[in-house]
Amino acid sequence: MSKGTLIVYSGPSGVGKGTLLLPYLQAHPEAALSVSMTTRSPRPGERDGVEYYFVSKQRFDEEIGQGGLLEYAQYSGNYYGTPRRMVEEKIAQGKDVFLEIEVQGAMKIKQTFPEAVFIFVMPPSWEVLKKRLTGRGTEPPEVVGRRLAAAQDEIHMAEKYDYIIVNDDLEAAGKKLEAVVIAAKCEARRLQETVRQLGGMPSV
Ligand code: ADP
Ligand code: 5GP
Repeated sequence: MSKGTLIVYSGPSGVGKGTLLLPYLQAHPEAALSVSMTTRSPRPGERDGVEYYFVSKQRFDEEIGQGGLLEYAQYSGNYYGTPRRMVEEKIAQGKDVFLEIEVQGAMKIKQTFPEAVFIFVMPPSWEVLKKRLTGRGTEPPEVVGRRLAAAQDEIHMAEKYDYIIVNDDLEAAGKKLEAVVIAAKCEARRLQETVRQLGGMPSV
């Protein structure tokens, strides 16, 4: 069975990453979203083990010590990390796995999994990003300010990604996400084994 594709999916807080990915995951049972571990407190409605594994800093450090995280980073005063086991299992089972992670963690994955696909979701403008982040109403104003400041650094990193999707109109951005994943799977570097196998066949 061929292995699944690891898809690193980043973008500033409030750009619409989650909103864009949900219909994709509903339409694609072969794709899964990795559930990260975080030291941040749950927002109203967030459930442990569903949106995140919510843990103490001590527990997070233990996980690092045991080599249980594929990558981790500090973001806006909290720690976030990708549990290794689920990702490795699903990829081995042929599933595509999305890592919805910030840019520092993404760059670590680039070193350890160069074969991953890197997608960055971009806002159409600063005004729109600010409106979405504020409009979501999940963070107090000082946290919104910190996240907008982080967004400036994140947007500078977008050029390190393979694909950029501007999330203006949600439906159009959803189509781009579909197209990007299909295109990424057709990249020549990913199909070397197929080419090698055909190269061994007698010519007709
Ligand atoms: P992220 O996961 O990147 O932090 P969310 O998916 O939570 O962002 O989206 C932030 C807010 O922006 C939500 O209130 C969401 O409904 C809204 N949103 C996302 N994409 C669009 C879009 N294309 N047009 C209008 N509003 C959007
Ligand atoms: P939020 O607090 O809004 O859920 O997430 C804040 C930021 O942390 C987002 O950019 C999100 O993509 C990122 N993030 C979530 N999980 C992980 C993770 O496991 N590793 C890293 N490096 N970033 C993560």
